[in-house]
Amino acid sequence: MDRVIDDIRFDTAVLRSFTACARAAGWIAALVSLAVLAGWLGGAEPVQAWLQSPSMMRAHAALGCLLAGSALLLHSSAPRTAVVLSALTALLGGLELLGHAFGPGTGGWRGLDLLAPGWPGRPPARMTELAAVALLLLGVVGVAVQRGRAVWLREACAIAVIAIAMAAFASCGLVLAGDGAGLLQRLPAMTASVLLLLTLGWMASAPTTGLTRVAAADSQGGAFARRLILPALVLPVLFTFLFKAVQLRLGMSESLALALAAVAAGGAVAAMIIWVASLLDRAERQRRVVLALHEDARTDALTGLANRRALDAALVRALRQRGAATLLLLDVDHFKRFNDSFGHPAGDDVLRETGRLLRAVVRSQDLVARYGGEEFAILLQQSDALRGRHVAERVIAAMRVHPWALRPVTLSIGVAVAAPGDAAATLLRRADAALYRSKQAGRDRFSFGAAPGDEAPPHPQPPRRPPTAPPAGAGIGNGSVVNAAAANGCGVD
Ligand code: GH3
Ligand code: MG
Ligand code: MG
Repeated sequence: MDRVIDDIRFDTAVLRSFTACARAAGWIAALVSLAVLAGWLGGAEPVQAWLQSPSMMRAHAALGCLLAGSALLLHSSAPRTAVVLSALTALLGGLELLGHAFGPGTGGWRGLDLLAPGWPGRPPARMTELAAVALLLLGVVGVAVQRGRAVWLREACAIAVIAIAMAAFASCGLVLAGDGAGLLQRLPAMTASVLLLLTLGWMASAPTTGLTRVAAADSQGGAFARRLILPALVLPVLFTFLFKAVQLRLGMSESLALALAAVAAGGAVAAMIIWVASLLDRAERQRRVVLALHEDARTDALTGLANRRALDAALVRALRQRGAATLLLLDVDHFKRFNDSFGHPAGDDVLRETGRLLRAVVRSQDLVARYGGEEFAILLQQSDALRGRHVAERVIAAMRVHPWALRPVTLSIGVAVAAPGDAAATLLRRADAALYRSKQAGRDRFSFGAAPGDEAPPHPQPPRRPPTAPPAGAGIGNGSVVNAAAANGCGVD
């Protein structure tokens, strides 16, 4: 099932998976943070030693991530609490930044460190400056998502947190390759991971808004974005790792390793472009197959004209629009006899040839359809009775002058002009009644539907007569039946 918001189509299953991911992110962040806090508060010596590692989350960062994770989990069930928790997250980040600004021991915020002055071996609770900045921004993201306002501010803050986390991951690559901790000391990898998770979680929690709607959209672009998110997150670690590993393990100079890394980055971008191009190509081929099937479903196989289904749809569209529409129903005269005399394949040739002639006498925007068996229809868009008459005359004339291979073939035509409020069925009925009159009046002529509301029944089989040469010099009968001579512009009774 689909939902359409601001002209973007969303698959509800995709939207559900986004909100499920947001919940999962909230749970993971809350549980990891709880574990770190519990370890910091009551952990035994090995746990404390483990928490000393530069890549481990600090206690204050864990407290902030616990608040943010809880806010994310409560965002739909308890929105107000979620706003308060997000505001507290931002406040914690802000206080910590102030603490860093004024320096320890200068009256800055000390938080959990106040609880444990006499706990030897416990790592400091304070988080790094970068973690504090990211937490402050994350709190703003949470409040903005919850309030549904300031989307641009929310996206800018979210992107800033993602950038900070990615920079930390990039330095992870260096550490993994055996180089110094660098940026990691400013933002531990664990804190960066949880902050990234929470930011993506907040973005996924409102999938039809902001940048996320691009990835959630039920479109080729959305599918690409969903597939490319993960590789894009992995690339920084991979490149810094390769860069350092190549340099250290192979004893390469820094400039050569940098050049190789640049080549690898270019190769990765090229690979992504090729991947996207192949996906686009496949999508394009599928689109062409769908278009061809769609076209097939609307085309008559024998004549290549539109079929009944296409005519019905066009009729409904034409009647919905303002402006006159005129419908002609055309039936080959004595076609059964033609088949009986010359066989079905020859009859098929006549139908194909008739289709070509009809196409040739109308404008490109008019629709010529095979209505069924040996019956055709012409829908003249934005056309009145006068144009209906001209087209009918041209058809009759074209059939008469055509050099038919076996014997002359003629058509009888019923013309009906749409009246305001006409339904497709009413218009068809009027055209059919007029066609019946043409048959009754001797075939090879056209008639007009008398007036809207002419509910004459569909024409029964008229008495069979051998095909006759078109009569010369006749005219309009009662004002609605017109014979072949009129097609030559010969006159009116
Ligand atoms: P009328 O002038 O009253 O329309 O007489 P008719 O013989 O044309 O009408 P009738 O309804 O008796 O016969 C229609 C014939 O059209 C019968 C059928 O075999 C033929 N027909 C229908 N579809 C096709 C087709 O696809 N190919 C061929 N060759 N004949 C077809
Ligand atoms: Mg017929
Ligand atoms: Mg017929």
